[in-house]
Amino acid sequence: MLDKVRIVLVGTTHSGNIGSVARAMKTMGLSQLVLVDPQCEIDGQAMALAAGASDLLRDALIVPTLTDAIADCALVAGTSARSRSLPWPMLSPRELGEKAAVEGQQAGVALVFGRERSGLSNDELQQCHFHVCIDANPEYSSLNLAQAVQILCYEVRMASLAAKPAVAEEESVVYPPAKAMENFYEHLEQSLDHSGFLIKAHQGKVMEKLRCLFNRARPDEHELNILRGILSSILRLKRD
Ligand code: SAH
Repeated sequence: MLDKVRIVLVGTTHSGNIGSVARAMKTMGLSQLVLVDPQCEIDGQAMALAAGASDLLRDALIVPTLTDAIADCALVAGTSARSRSLPWPMLSPRELGEKAAVEGQQAGVALVFGRERSGLSNDELQQCHFHVCIDANPEYSSLNLAQAVQILCYEVRMASLAAKPAVAEEESVVYPPAKAMENFYEHLEQSLDHSGFLIKAHQGKVMEKLRCLFNRARPDEHELNILRGILSSILRLKRD
């Protein structure tokens, strides 16, 4: 049931943390580990801290960007120790666990974790549907990376043990994978540029706001097709 839930670590600097993450995952029944641009090798320390979970390290996928890591995922949750300036939908670890357990029965789910020093960038956080914050001591809220992974994996496991089997495919909502949403944003920008609404040099935060809007609405595949059709019709119009 947890095959489709992957843990994505972005820019990790300490190999020991990668090993501890593998252990945290395996104890909770997760196995898909993706490393985005890791800043360290999977070395002896990683292997030692992974203990009996070194198979996850051997099978870990290494990719250059977060976009590559989540391309085929329909649900992407980014974790952060502090709430940023981004007005993004938030989930508690428990709510995230429940969503991941349900949606993970049908489509890829990514739980994304940031760099030890600086976490995830705003650009990376904007690629996530939801942000998850572990409600910790406000005066010292930054957990060790592997311990944050452990908490989320535990919630996903608890929720999946309690989850009912997925409803029949024809009744359930099918959300597009992240790659399809990225293609949509590109198409949207192109159309707004063509219509004259967007002036490339002065677009300010328009695209960021629109991302926020569509991310909140979370169109399903059918709705996204309609939106793409509208954009194509705008691109077909001649500009005066
Ligand atoms: N100074 C960084 C902390 C990074 S800790 C920051 O402010 O973002 C490394 C990673 O562990 C984070 O990017 C996040 O993925 C996870 N993490 C640590 N504490 C967390 C918390 N309280 N809630 C959610 N994720 C947390």
